[in-house]
Amino acid sequence: MRFELNEYKGELSDDEILNDIRRVAQNLNTDYISISVYKKNGKHSQTAIQRHFGTWVHALELAGLRSKRTAEELKSISNEDYYADLRRVARLIGSDTVPYESYLQFGQYSCGHIFHRFGKWNTALANAGLKETGFSKEKISKQQCFDEIERMWITLGRQPTSTDITKGGLSAYSLDTFKRRFGGWRKALEAFIEYINNDKPDANFMPAANSDCLEQKEENQESVNERPNPSSQINDAAQNPTQIETKSHRTSRNINARLRYKVLLRDNFKCCACGASPAKDPSVELHIDHIVPWSKGGETVIENLQTLCSKCNLGKGSDA
Ligand SMILES: [Zn+2]
Repeated sequence: MRFELNEYKGELSDDEILNDIRRVAQNLNTDYISISVYKKNGKHSQTAIQRHFGTWVHALELAGLRSKRTAEELKSISNEDYYADLRRVARLIGSDTVPYESYLQFGQYSCGHIFHRFGKWNTALANAGLKETGFSKEKISKQQCFDEIERMWITLGRQPTSTDITKGGLSAYSLDTFKRRFGGWRKALEAFIEYINNDKPDANFMPAANSDCLEQKEENQESVNERPNPSSQINDAAQNPTQIETKSHRTSRNINARLRYKVLLRDNFKCCACGASPAKDPSVELHIDHIVPWSKGGETVIENLQTLCSKCNLGKGSDA
């Protein structure tokens, strides 16, 4: 998923908002806060957060906080909690229904969790007393279609079928949208795979002069769930503090979206160490891990990358 910020950000700086999010978390003595908890305790509006960071999850990531609930926290969310939040978002957007994409922006829970709990997006809406969502009528770009296929593929942990779209209520766009653009669902999937595979082999490569890019923020591509993986960064850096500046790499540390997707696909959207997958357990968070750490000269190439769940990835860091 890409986050694009609006040009205009108002008077506030990103840091002011992030510091306030950290302050609230610290006061509540927790490393995870939901948007509604923030709204009760924080200084800034949800609109400001959205304008600066796109989504709440992204804001949490940038603040260095946990961006996902634990399995226990997930279990403690009741169906009624989900319905109430859906109704809240419906009021917020002034509608009698809540499209997926609006919920992604404004919801306090993850769309994936709602899908897992209720099977279909529309079931959750109907239970909440809302209208079933219609599909977006706007002109959808090819890239938006690819992004949506990727999102569905990761949510399901398998190739999405046309039934997932017509019956599952999983897609933000109608089956017709995909058919119109690509000539059929199968053709849409083929175009998607071609797009993934047509990644220029050197897309992750860079001139040697720019190789000390550790200062760059690790991008969201590091994890399926849009969560950067600060732990491995810290571990890598801690292991080899002096080599980082001088080590020359052919590739950048960042894993671009297509490469990330190829690694996930090859590893069947499962942790290579323990087999955990978000399709079976929505609390599982997959990271893409450098097998030979980047700080030790490991390159960002598919052969040196593997899918690990956050638990196994943390384990790997502390053992190494
Ligand atoms: Zn694992």
